[in-house]
Amino acid sequence: MEVSENIACPFCGQTFALVVDTSAGLQRFTTDCEICCRPFEVTAECEPGEILSLDVQAG
Ligand SMILES: [Zn+2]
Repeated sequence: MEVSENIACPFCGQTFALVVDTSAGLQRFTTDCEICCRPFEVTAECEPGEILSLDVQAG
């Protein structure tokens, strides 16, 4: 189940919606900022249908 959540880019500070597959539990992946296009790391803790916590880190 996919849920979208707003996250703030660690580089430019702009927020944008990120879609997370919540069925995967705890996951870490790299995504590109939609505004400045720089890649950063996202750690998401999920339950099916719900994002419990979302953490971003500059790669
Ligand atoms: Zn950015």
